Formats: sequence, structure tokens, C-alpha cells
Amino acid sequence: MFKKVLIANRGEIALRVIRACKELGLETVAVYSEADRECLHVRFAEDDVCIGRAPSRDSYLNIPRIIAAAEITGADAIHPGYGFLAENAEFAEIVQASNITFIGPTPGQIRQMGDKATARNVVQRLKIPTVPGSPGPVESLEEALAIADKLVFPVIIKAAGGGGGKGMRVATDAEQFTQAYNLARQEALAAFGSDQVYLEKYLARPRHVEIQVMGDTHGKVMHLCERDCSVQRRHQKLIEEAPSPAVDQTLREDMGEAAVKAAEAISYVGAGTVEFLLDEDGAFYFMEMNTRIQVEHPVTEMCTNFDLVKEQIRVAGGEPLSLIMNGNRLRGHAIECRVNAEDPARNFQPAPGLITAYHPPGGPGVRVDTHIYAGYTVPPYYDSLLAKVIVHGNTREEALARMRQALDSFIIEGVTTTIPFLSRVMRHPDFVAGKVDTKFLEREPQLLKEQT
Ligand code: ADP
Repeated sequence: MFKKVLIANRGEIALRVIRACKELGLETVAVYSEADRECLHVRFAEDDVCIGRAPSRDSYLNIPRIIAAAEITGADAIHPGYGFLAENAEFAEIVQASNITFIGPTPGQIRQMGDKATARNVVQRLKIPTVPGSPGPVESLEEALAIADKLVFPVIIKAAGGGGGKGMRVATDAEQFTQAYNLARQEALAAFGSDQVYLEKYLARPRHVEIQVMGDTHGKVMHLCERDCSVQRRHQKLIEEAPSPAVDQTLREDMGEAAVKAAEAISYVGAGTVEFLLDEDGAFYFMEMNTRIQVEHPVTEMCTNFDLVKEQIRVAGGEPLSLIMNGNRLRGHAIECRVNAEDPARNFQPAPGLITAYHPPGGPGVRVDTHIYAGYTVPPYYDSLLAKVIVHGNTREEALARMRQALDSFIIEGVTTTIPFLSRVMRHPDFVAGKVDTKFLEREPQLLKEQT
């Protein structure tokens, strides 16, 4: 087993990983950019190294500097968190080649699932349903148009190397298609270095339901049930919950089995998420697999009483899964709200700045994963996540009431936050009834506006 873990990340997830390491008796190394000197991950890690200027490409995405930081401090493992280099196969390869353990899957596994068009082919061979679409990446506009016509509009054009909602465009008719296709390719090239795109039918009212999986180096894979991440804005998750109000035990078992099958097919090691779209009549379709810890992992932790980050570290050290649960251990209900420094009334425009007052909610069943504090300045360079509020209740109703009171007593002053918006969603009849899909916020634009 390794002894010292470098966390190649910042923000709340860096703190989350540091906590897990401390509980396991491992030393930690923080890396930080010039904009992040005052960050708590720097304070809480045993060692810290400044790896460059504020823009991510000069620091958190700079592979040689991160490796050098590990070598200087004697770190023998690297946890990538989520975002930044977490799904970069080349990074995982360089880490390995430097005799450092990468806390995550192998470079080969990252590659197989990282290309979404390839991942679709992998699961299709296993007879796992995928959203109807092109058999692989499309080669030309003419080919793409012909496929779109066959699929029947609307269709969605997706970057094969995509993630984070980038390089994704919806086209409602043939006329719009050319522009959407070109834009998706440009965006894909800029964000992922490849303009390969593929097509899927754009489902009308799907729910986003994903299965948490975990595999070890001894050939075992398990799943830890589902999360429902249907409340989204522009294909980005805002609120997540477990279990899904739309999933019963039979469906849970079917989706879980499909997810485990996909992970087993590539002998998956570590924490991963198999994402599905669930349509109105209960049919589910594989969308993609994320080969890292997810932002929304705490809702699963709250319902399973299982520490996913500690388990990631253990299996990276060669230990077998500490238990096999496969979906039969859910207790109660958990909800997570992502609190961002953004203004929903202004198209979720980021609102960085100085936090002048801060008081987090608390009490039974309330967890806040955050890196902010009074006097902290939210820099403009990174994503605008301030905190994740996660609640757990014996029932969904109790979790909802808990989330409402938690959001209402969460004080963050100095920057505009999404708290009032989240609190309105927690009171919306459709959310309360568990009847939302990924188009919910498009239908309810008034939720974004300040109420008087
Ligand atoms: P990314 O990896 O960029 O996050 P995903 O493929 O995971 O992209 O899709 C993100 C979201 O986009 C989904 O949760 C869903 O809301 C929407 N979406 C993706 N594919 C489809 C589809 N075929 N039909 C309807 N919505 C889709």
C-alpha cells in the first residue's frame, strides 16, 4: 500500500479526499495554483506545492508540474478527484510510468469508456440497450443528415470525446441540423482536441438515472444502486437524489445488472458511474460511463453508509472490495443540492467575489461538503461550485423537509448564490411529487426568477 497521496485537484473534492486519506492513516499533498493560496486544501494537507498560475492549463492541467510535485514530496499515489485530469488516460499513464499509483481505473479502461462512440459499441455487444443513433462517429454532413432523417428529428449531436455538456447540440429539423452539426464539431475540437461526433435520437422527456459501480483488482464488480439527476440546466446536473422516485426494485436490479455487466466487460477497477436515460414507460438506455468519482457521490454514501472515496483508495492499493452489496442495502432517502456562485436570473452567470459572511446548516441528517469560509474569495478561474448540501431522511418526505430547512438557514453573503432558486425547486409541486425529467427547468422558467 502507498503512504502519501497527492490530490491533483482543488475545492470541495480536494478536502473530501484529504479527509478520506486521514481516516486511512495516509499522508496528503495539496497542489494549488497562485489563485488558490488561501484554499483550505492547502491548509489541511501535510505538504503543499504551488504548481503554477491561475488558469487551469498552467496549473491543475499541467501534467509535468503535478508529477514533479509528487516526486519532490515523495507522494506515491495520486487521486485526481473529478474534472481536470480525472478522465485523462495519458495522465494516468504518465502517473503509472513514474511509479506512482493512480487512484482510479487503468489508462486502457479510461480510454475505452472515454470515447463515447466506442463505449456505445462496447455495451451494444453486451446487449445493453443504447439510445438509437449512429453506429459510430459520423464521417460527413451528408452521412449525418441521412442518419438524422432516419432517426426522425429531434436528434442530438454529441462529441465522441465529450463531457460536461460540451460539444453537444440538439437539432429539431433538417434546416437547423447543418449549423448544429458544425457548432458541435467546432466545440468538440476546441474542448477535446477531436471533432469526431455521433448522433442520438433526442428523447422527449427522459429522466437521467445513473448507477454507481465499484470494481477491484481481484475481478469483482458491484453496484450501489441508482442516483436520479434529472434536474438539469443545459444538460448539467443541479440536484441529485437516491433512490430515484421513478425506479422500483425490479428496474433497479435490471439497471444494476446492466451497469455491472458493462463494468465487468472491461474488468473495471475503482469507482465508476454508468449513466442511463430512462423514458416515460420505464425503458432505459445506456448513455455513457464516467470513470471517476462523481460530484453527486454523497447521495449514494448517505443511503448506503459506505465511503466511496475510502474504497477508491483501498482498491487502488490492491485490496479486495470490502463488501459486496449489489443494490440491497439502500436505507432512507438522500438529496443533494449544488450551491453555485451564479445568478439564475441572469442565465446562471458566474458571480465570483469575496464571501463576507458564512454559516452552514446543520443538524441530524445534514452534510455540507464545501471549501468556502467567511473571508474566502471565490476566484473567477474555476467552476462556481461553492458547496454541496446533502440531506438524508428516513423517507423522501423527511429528506425534502430537511433540505428546505437546511437551504433556508444556509448563510452565504457577499456573492450571489443559487440557494433561493434551489429552495424554490424544493417546494415545486412536480419536484415534491418526484415527477421531473431533464426538461423540467425549461418548462418552468419562473423558477429561475427572483420572487418578490
Ligand atoms: P456529458 O458527458 O457532456 O455530461 P451526457 O451524454 O452525459 O453528456 O448527457 C448529459 C445530459 O444531456 C443528459 O443527462 C440528458 O439530460 C441530456 N441528453 C443526452 N443525450 C440525450 C438524448 N439522446 N436524449 C435526450 N437528452 C439527452
